[in-house]
Amino acid sequence: MAWPIIKGTAVLKALNDEDEGKALLYAAEILKKGGLVAFPTETVYGLGGDALNPDTVQNIYKVKQRPPDNPLIIHVAGMDQAARLVEEVPPEAFLLAENFWPGPLTMVLPKKNLVPDITTAGLSSAAIRVPAHPLARKLIRAAEIPLAAPSANLSGRPSPTTAEHVLDDLAGRIEAVLDGGSCSVGVESTVISLLSGTPALLRPGGITLEMLEDVLKQEVLDLTAERKGEVIKGAPPSPGMKYRHYAPRVPLYLVVGDYPAQRKQLVALTESFLMQGRKVALLLSLESAGICSAPVLRVLGSRNKPEQIAKRLFAILREMDFLDIDVIVVEGFDEKGMGRAVMNRLRKAAAEIINN
Ligand code: AMP
Ligand code: MG
Repeated sequence: MAWPIIKGTAVLKALNDEDEGKALLYAAEILKKGGLVAFPTETVYGLGGDALNPDTVQNIYKVKQRPPDNPLIIHVAGMDQAARLVEEVPPEAFLLAENFWPGPLTMVLPKKNLVPDITTAGLSSAAIRVPAHPLARKLIRAAEIPLAAPSANLSGRPSPTTAEHVLDDLAGRIEAVLDGGSCSVGVESTVISLLSGTPALLRPGGITLEMLEDVLKQEVLDLTAERKGEVIKGAPPSPGMKYRHYAPRVPLYLVVGDYPAQRKQLVALTESFLMQGRKVALLLSLESAGICSAPVLRVLGSRNKPEQIAKRLFAILREMDFLDIDVIVVEGFDEKGMGRAVMNRLRKAAAEIINN
């Protein structure tokens, strides 16, 4: 089957089971030979390559322009494959796997020597997850290797939630992208460290802190610095924490605080930018959509449904880079449930955070 090629990258989009089988075979062959294939997961698209091949992993960093000290998540088909990569699987990991795998949860565990240092950026631990997306699972099985797969974007850009986003950033830099439509969760996986006695949240994501504590029946330390507004000094518990991600082309102002006061602040800030003659893009909740007008207005979703907001967030941030605007003003959301992951990503995207 001849797949469409964009700047040298094959676009594997299957419309029936037979073509899907061929697409998976094609992608698996590339991966087995050490090449790179972007593939859909339920969170965002991943840039996959053999996690146990140092040359391939080095190429992942190069293609993404990812800082070499930011380790990769290894995607596997199940707990059996995960257990072969780590020294020890503590009881908490089994419990979490039973409840959340396959799914948007990444566990940090002590790595075995067979996992190359470059995959974990020199750390003695590895971050591992079993994705839930059917194509991701089929691809890992077909390739028969664990796949290192960071988000399939250029470093610093919003994570891709469609194959088109992947091509915008990486066409011509990777062998193929497996097109599975848009991702259902829309933000990256939750990362939890199980290296010490107390489980620690390193990145909020598709599985919420509340869900983790419910299953573990114990407190999970929240080490996500963004939430506490702290500046991380020294080595952060998760290297990715220290990077400001997802910066749009124009400055993004995030307005946080009590909802009624926040609405006033949103209006005042937008009006003052408009008075200065600046073209504002306003990103609001469904509930706030009527509070003021601006040249560009996008509704992110309902305040009561942060999952909706998570699903649309990166696509809307990417769209902002194509518009003729000077500044983006965004409403802040409650930091509970999926709202925690949404706010974590918005804080990373913000040039300024305004509290009332
Ligand atoms: P991404 O691949 O873009 O989804 O980012 C992966 C995230 O997982 C980054 O925030 C990394 O810092 C984090 N991570 C990966 N491996 C480890 C590890 N061994 N220990 C702590 N955090 C990790
Ligand atoms: Mg990423």
